[in-house]
Formats: sequence, structure tokens, C-alpha cells
Amino acid sequence: MDKTSLANYPAHTYKDNHLSIQLNCRGDREYTKMSFPVKYGLFSRMETDEMVFEFNQNHQIRHAKSKSAEWIHPSEWMKRTMGNDWVYYSTGGYAGVVESIGEYYLPNLMYQTNSLLGGKPFETTEVAKISGDWHKLLSKIDEKRPGMPAKIAQWLERVKQVRPDHLVQRAETFFGISGARTTVLPPDARHSDYDIIPVTIQDGCLYKCRFCKVKNKKTFMERSRQDIKDQIIQLKALYGKDLVNYNAIFLGEHDGLNAPMELILYAARTAHEQFGFDKAYMKKPMLYFFGSVDALLNSDDILFNSLNELPFHTCINIGLESADDETLSLLGKPVSAQKVRKAFGRMQTINQNFERLEMTCNFVMDRELPASHNLAMMELVRGKMDRASSKGSVYLSPLQFGNPSREVLFDFYHLKTQSRLPMFLYIIQRL
Ligand code: SF4
Repeated sequence: MDKTSLANYPAHTYKDNHLSIQLNCRGDREYTKMSFPVKYGLFSRMETDEMVFEFNQNHQIRHAKSKSAEWIHPSEWMKRTMGNDWVYYSTGGYAGVVESIGEYYLPNLMYQTNSLLGGKPFETTEVAKISGDWHKLLSKIDEKRPGMPAKIAQWLERVKQVRPDHLVQRAETFFGISGARTTVLPPDARHSDYDIIPVTIQDGCLYKCRFCKVKNKKTFMERSRQDIKDQIIQLKALYGKDLVNYNAIFLGEHDGLNAPMELILYAARTAHEQFGFDKAYMKKPMLYFFGSVDALLNSDDILFNSLNELPFHTCINIGLESADDETLSLLGKPVSAQKVRKAFGRMQTINQNFERLEMTCNFVMDRELPASHNLAMMELVRGKMDRASSKGSVYLSPLQFGNPSREVLFDFYHLKTQSRLPMFLYIIQRL
């Protein structure tokens, strides 16, 4: 977005003793990893004696925090997602967050997940007040204030019109575009703060592993070009004016890499063009998808060459789960350890050869698994690596949901210190 287009987002401000409003604040244009809260994109901000609210270009609430002394930490905040979930971003209360997840802020989710970290912020009164009562708090603010500029009064009227039931309905419309909610995002989506637009290019997955809690009943099936184009057009209309704040797509569902090469490239190019990523406020477009062991082993280098040429930085996350046959059988994952090792080797070659591509992978972690699981994994991430590399993160995904555990966290740190690849915890997050 150039200066001329930015002129379409003029700043307006208003301030009295109890209210301050700033329209079209300019946040950072690239996602960064900082130990203090960074605001991204073009947004509007309202501050009362009690709360700070931020709104997107569609007048929908997107961030909030309380100014009360009861609020857990002054630099923690809440974010509302496109799926209408609230996420509480915490500092984690200790210095280990960035080492564990690669980010300075820990997303605490409203639903059960496999996170080993974090408390129960949604059980605190102040957090519940925002997620439950934000609109009541907003409704109390009168736009008929002496000296309030007309532009600000109009904006205030518009944000008050966006009620919680509208947001629920809008999330339903959002899920309906692809036909289903995105139940799991790749761990790499953290690089875009999970602000991604999901385009489904295929349904289901190849393996239907017994252990997996995010799978569905659908057998692997690719979508047609027409279906993909229809989704993109509907998503463009739904994101509307707020599209300027997006520059990342997720090609769902669980094994995008297994879709035909032409379809992957078609979806990425069409989305880039239709969403106008070259004109977005947010820079450095990102493309994310998942892949299976078989999809990776069967894929042609032409695909990676072509992805490398796209105007995206691409992250493909491969579900390896284990490089140990006994563990794979316990998990009910129908691939052999030999294939997993081969897939891991291919990932490293791709990471070395394609600058704008990053292949990452997941392994499961659980104290009940055989010792051979960690041994086989460490043989890959340490034994097979002749030197340390900053590219090709390895994500460890705790098998248990709703069971934060100090012991498992300790195991993770122990493995991380030995790994020659960046190693992080995978917090399963939906959209
Ligand atoms: S782990 Fe991946 S391949 Fe296995 S069932 Fe889950 S989504 Fe499917």
C-alpha cells in the first residue's frame, strides 16, 4: 500500500476526561517477535476509564483489555478471531514462553487444547467481563458529546451497531464458505499471529490416525478450481474493508500438500490476486499448509520450485508424529518409521535448496510413549544433522488435551537443548 492509498485512512481523534478515540491508527506492517505488545495493521482505538477496545476496518471489535487493577497484567490483552473466539495473550508469568513456543506471548484459548503452559484467564472476572459484556460496556458510551467531531460520532454509532449476535452470525457465514470450521491451524501460522485467511483446497486426510483429535470422517478429496475460486470471492466479500490487514493464507484442510500441484499453485495465485496482497497494509505475504509423509515423498521438486517463485514465503508443516515403528503403531498411524525418516531427509534438502520455503514438522510427546520414540526422534534432529540450523522448526505436540504438566514441560526442555533444529511446543489452535 502506497502513501496515496494510505490517504484513504485519515486519522481522526477525540478526547475528553473519560473517553479517547483514535480512528485509523497505523500499527506495524510486519509481524515481529517482541517482548512487549505490538499492534498490527490499520485499526481504531477507544479508551474509557475502564477499558481499551480496538476495532478493525469493519467496525468489529478485535482487541480488548481492562484497565482495572484486577486485570492479570497490564501488557496482556485479548483478541477476537474470525471464528469469534476470544484468545487471551499472556506473558506466561515467567521467562520460558519464548523458548517454549517461539513467541513472547502465550495464546490462552477458551476451549480445551494441548497446551502445557498458561493459567485459566477465562475464569477471572475481568476477562469474563470483556468476553461476555464488551458490547454492554460499549453501548453505555454516548456519541452525543459536546465537541465530538461528526466523523468520530458516526464511527461510534457504527461500532455500537455491531452486536455480539451479528458476530456469531458472521462466524457461521465464515465457516459456511468452505463448509466447515478450520479445526486446526499449522503451528507456523504463529508467524502471522494466526491472522490467516483459510481457503480449503481439499477435505480430510490420508491416514485417519487413531490418536488424532482434530481429524474428521472425510476421506481425502480435492476441491475443484471453481469451488476454490468461489470460496476466495466469498471470503473477499466477507473480510471486506479489513482485507488490508491480511497478507497470509492457509490452504486447508489437513493435507494440502497431497492436492495436485496445479491446484495448490492455482489457489495461492488466485488468493494473492483477489485478496490484493500486493496492495495490503501488511507486508511480506505468507502461505501455510499441512502435508503428510506420503504427500511429501510423492511430490515433485517442480512444486517446490514453483512455490519458491510465488510472491509468498511458504511454510509447509509435515505431520511425522514419530520415527519409531512401535510408537507409530500405538498411535494408529499407518506409515512406517522408514518412510518418516525418508520424509525428514527430504524436508532438510528442501530447506537447504529453497530460500522462500520452510518445511517444518510435528512429533507427538507423551510420558506414556516408549523410550524408543524420543530416541528415534533425537537421532533425526540431532544425530542426522551435522550442524545446527535455524530453518526447519520441529514442533512437539503433547498428546493429552486439557492437561498442562510441569513434568512434560521439563521433558520438552530436555529434548530442546539437544536438538540441532529449532524446537517448540505446538499449541493446537482453531480458527
Ligand atoms: S494426524 Fe493428520 S493424517 Fe493423522 S488423522 Fe490427524 S489430520 Fe489425519
